[in-house]
Amino acid sequence: MPDFCARGTLHKPSVPTWSALVYYSRTRSIKRSRLVYDMAAEQNPYMTERTGRRRGAHFAPQPTPAPEPPKKRRLKRILVILLALVLLAAGGCFVGWRVLGHGEALPGVSEILSRLGIGGRTVAIALDGEEVRIPVDSTVQEVFDLQQPAVTPGDLLSVSGGVLGEGKGEAFAAVLDGREVPFAEAGSTIVPEGATLSFSDGADITEDYTSETVTTSTPKLVRQVSEGTVESDLMQTGTVQYIYQWGKQGSKEVRTGSVSGETADGEVVEGQDCIIMCQDIRPDDDEKLVALTFDDGPTTYTEQYLQILDRYDVKATFNLIGEQVEDHAEAVRATCAADNQVASHGWNHPNLITLGEDDLRAQLTDTFDVIKRAADYDTSTIRAPYGIIDIDVWLRSGGRMSLSVCWTHDSEDWKLPGVDTIVSNCTGTMAPGSVILMHDGGGDRDQNLEALPRIIEAWQAAGYRFVTVEELMASDSSIPSECAATYRPMPEDATWPTEKAE
Ligand SMILES: [Zn+2]
Repeated sequence: MPDFCARGTLHKPSVPTWSALVYYSRTRSIKRSRLVYDMAAEQNPYMTERTGRRRGAHFAPQPTPAPEPPKKRRLKRILVILLALVLLAAGGCFVGWRVLGHGEALPGVSEILSRLGIGGRTVAIALDGEEVRIPVDSTVQEVFDLQQPAVTPGDLLSVSGGVLGEGKGEAFAAVLDGREVPFAEAGSTIVPEGATLSFSDGADITEDYTSETVTTSTPKLVRQVSEGTVESDLMQTGTVQYIYQWGKQGSKEVRTGSVSGETADGEVVEGQDCIIMCQDIRPDDDEKLVALTFDDGPTTYTEQYLQILDRYDVKATFNLIGEQVEDHAEAVRATCAADNQVASHGWNHPNLITLGEDDLRAQLTDTFDVIKRAADYDTSTIRAPYGIIDIDVWLRSGGRMSLSVCWTHDSEDWKLPGVDTIVSNCTGTMAPGSVILMHDGGGDRDQNLEALPRIIEAWQAAGYRFVTVEELMASDSSIPSECAATYRPMPEDATWPTEKAE
């Protein structure tokens, strides 16, 4: 029998009670409490040895669960929290591995859901010849990230082509339903259900660079005479002179790499000379075409000429003196309205070779402008007064004119030689491509009014058809078709030469 009092916590009971045992069990070890229990059983004949249940109906011990001490509860809470944290971390690692396990940029929402196996419908596509399923509305980039096809990325190159970074070019090249997908659009191009998609090696990319343009050549003015055209000392060589080729400045782009600092040539523009072609007009297949031209108008005679032309269903070309246009604007409008061609004959009929650059350009543009204002008609064609023009006039023109028209038959009507002479001057040696010169102003033109119907009838009787100069040039396929146009402004990328070729 142990001495309880020796512990100083419990008085020895004469008969141990449950409450005493419970209290004891709280403060002592299990072993010791069992000892106490045995002791109690020994003294209480109603208790069984182990259960503590009394062998009678009235005393059944009902031990209430003892509340745990506060220290133990805290420990338990800490353990639960720790366990929850461990589970949370493990879950986070799992999600991270599934979502970002490919080591590339963040995937889209549907891709995340798909990788987690929650939600996200999938569709079948043919990838490099094999059917695979991908999340619906995946982009080309997402399919690449998901499927990781075995392709080699391109390299990052310097401006001069050296490798600056292996594999730092485009990651892949993709062909979606037969169409190449630009790499920059791979992240926004949706792969539809049933699509055919294939990946191949990525392209190289070139480092960023700055560029400057360096002039490599300047155009010169070149005069050419077409085959079969005879040089003339008296007037312009060739029935027509026109800009066969516009001049262009040669240049090259010099690129300086922002990473490498290297320099390399970029875009190269080949320069070309400006070519003035002097050419007689020869209609294809010797088609019987002839052109009537009237200089020095508009005047009071213009309307009368138009009536005669209309009577014979003939189109002609009128070369106007700029300073007369405003006074006869109605005649100019009627001329254009009847589908005749209109050109400049200078502002006040100067000899072009005597003019300096500024005066020449003013004579040209002022006349073109006044015609435009009067009849809304665009032209860059001239007839040089007196038919005198040379390559220096072309050089000084600055590209304001594109075509100069001369003649093959001079009526010499200004001499007032009589109707018969005018008719014979205009009808001798008929040939396809002929251009007849008559005058619409500069004096009394009554002889012309009488001669003109006879001239038209003579040519028509020989099987000829009267056309404008533009149509006449268009009938000669050796003349580029764009060169036949009445109006040809200098293209923006052209450069007018400042000197003649040697
Ligand atoms: Zn004239």
